[in-house]
Amino acid sequence: MEKCYIDPVSLYRLPWTMPDNGITWLEPTAQCNLNCYGCYRKNIKNSHKPLDDVKHELDFFQSLRKSDCISIAGGDPLLYPDIVKLVVDIKSRGLKPIINTNGIALTNELLDELKKAGVFGFTFHIDSKQGRGRDPKWLGKNEIELNELRLYYAEMLANKGGIACSFNSTVYYDTIQYVPDLVEWAQKHIDIVHTMVFILFRYITSDTPFDFYAGDKKIVWDDIHYHSNKDEVTDLMATDVVKEIRKKSPEFTPAAFLNGTAKADHFKWLLSERIGNKGKIFGYAGNKFLELIMTVYHYKKDKYLSYASPKALRMGRLTLFNTWFLDRGIRKALKKYLKYVLVNPFRIFKKVYLQSIMIIQPVDMMPNGDQSMCDGCPDITYWKDKDGTEKLVWSCRLEEPMKYGDFLRMVPKNKETVPDNGSSVIAEIAKIK
Ligand code: SF4
Repeated sequence: MEKCYIDPVSLYRLPWTMPDNGITWLEPTAQCNLNCYGCYRKNIKNSHKPLDDVKHELDFFQSLRKSDCISIAGGDPLLYPDIVKLVVDIKSRGLKPIINTNGIALTNELLDELKKAGVFGFTFHIDSKQGRGRDPKWLGKNEIELNELRLYYAEMLANKGGIACSFNSTVYYDTIQYVPDLVEWAQKHIDIVHTMVFILFRYITSDTPFDFYAGDKKIVWDDIHYHSNKDEVTDLMATDVVKEIRKKSPEFTPAAFLNGTAKADHFKWLLSERIGNKGKIFGYAGNKFLELIMTVYHYKKDKYLSYASPKALRMGRLTLFNTWFLDRGIRKALKKYLKYVLVNPFRIFKKVYLQSIMIIQPVDMMPNGDQSMCDGCPDITYWKDKDGTEKLVWSCRLEEPMKYGDFLRMVPKNKETVPDNGSSVIAEIAKIK
């Protein structure tokens, strides 16, 4: 399989940094009602934090970091007894509350309460490796069959109106084949599905070429929370997903990214912004459009945008006509749109939408033991050391300070055996086959 090449210089580097970011991550509980394979956090019963402690974390964030939204995660935040009060508090601070949930605990009544409290949006985590066995309807369903469940939640939010709807899925070597269908499904529901997020699976396996240390203490690989005893691919790259999507949507074009801390051409957060309707995608915004949006938003609000409102995302036509002269991608999309309307002028009455597709590539292990994280990590959260020092840390690796008091360092066991995962894993596997 050929490597999918994306030129980092052609993209807009999202301007997110540690002190000025679109997102900040909050975990009021580590309790969850599912046990997803691939989860980055340990499921801990009765781990709800007191509301005042959670508010203190928000105070701490706000003292160090500008942020547009707060991703309320966990665990499943809908199990948090004070979730409605928490949403009220976040909203009152001028932040957008986004609830990251598997959706199981979401009832119509709770949704009404959360809407009244000021919830901005939901990100539903739905994929085929979550063990949704409690409801036999979803047991053993593949990614495509789970679209019925995705649609259930999208319609539930749409019926209330004004709430942003996103879906995320963890992508594994044996599920990457379904990503193009999920992207296609999202287009069919572009009026009510605002964002699709694909997060690449990362675990440590027995053939790891590294030794792990917390300070000077050696840690056995299978003691680490995110380890797998199976022989599996754990280093899919964002470019592998783009290549897969292009099999069905050849024009799929990313516009912006976050690089890796150890590699400038790692696409850790790779964002595509498309314009279309349920029947047709007219095109993809380019780097200048994203730059314009981020710059204007920051000038007006003094922070960078992360989630756009459903109302703003319904302005696809306005975007085409108002920004074509500023961005090559929008210009191409406008040309296609005009041709589409010329064929049948009544099509001018059809709404045109914007929709985001994000691919997230978590930690990459470099041959020298460096860990390439997302440079300008949006999912930064709160951590208090044993000595009481409060810090901003990566949420995807919170289990490390929780268990070992520190983040783990990696040391190569033997340099020759360490692959450089700057290359496509799928390409490597294809070569072997
Ligand atoms: S570094 Fe980890 S927590 Fe931060 S954005 Fe990347 S995957 Fe998420």
